[in-house]
Amino acid sequence: MSIRKPLIAGNWKMYGSRREVQALVEGIKQPFLQGKLANIEVALFPSFVHLTQVAQLLENTPLALGAQNLYLGAQGAFTGEVSGPMLVDVGCQYVLVGHSERRQYFHEDVELIAKKFAAAVQAKLKPVLCVGETLAEREQGQTEAVITRQLQSVIQACGIAAFATAVVAYEPVWAIGTGLTATPEQAQQVHRFIRELFMQNQVDIAQAIRILYGGSVKPENAKALLAMPDIDGGLVGGASLDVGSFIGIGESVVGH
Ligand code: PEP
Repeated sequence: MSIRKPLIAGNWKMYGSRREVQALVEGIKQPFLQGKLANIEVALFPSFVHLTQVAQLLENTPLALGAQNLYLGAQGAFTGEVSGPMLVDVGCQYVLVGHSERRQYFHEDVELIAKKFAAAVQAKLKPVLCVGETLAEREQGQTEAVITRQLQSVIQACGIAAFATAVVAYEPVWAIGTGLTATPEQAQQVHRFIRELFMQNQVDIAQAIRILYGGSVKPENAKALLAMPDIDGGLVGGASLDVGSFIGIGESVVGH
């Protein structure tokens, strides 16, 4: 079991109508305010267009709001983009940076991701930096090299101090939305590797930083994954769109 406060993050991706979003938040909110579930930090990541609605629904609760993406700077002629200060203005505390879907489908490279990480920190958002290898990379024994490149590019560009408020999410690309999950041992091995990489830079940050596991997390596998000492929570995609599954993940983590 991790010594850090567990964080369960729900990445809703490009899903949901206003009606569905309202039902989802109303279903999730109450259970996480009481009993053992209140020991878990929850952060919800709706689409941009639902941020204000979710912010209102979460008002006066400890549940946090996050965005799935941001662009650089505070404002400018960048049609279709949203800046860090705009996200703060509508109530966000967190922002995903470098999700594998952004790397893969929107061609975000390590330089842009490092700049987005810096933009998030500059705006006083907590970045959730997503890293992870593809199946081909794992099969070629490249997992650690890939993770090192993805993390070092940000550490070098932004400095280790920029990680003081950050979260890292280890998401093996082959496990996202596929139903495949890393075994708890496979995940722990990479989480340990990530923490040791931070150890080489700054011991305090290495000990405090939360490293989430992501990749087909569901109630059935969350308990074993989060029992590992370096797994501090989950970044949940598909299962976060279902009230029962999301609560079930929380319950399996706190041992209901
Ligand atoms: C994700 O979106 O980050 C994710 C891990 O998705 P899923 O849980 O559906 O695999």
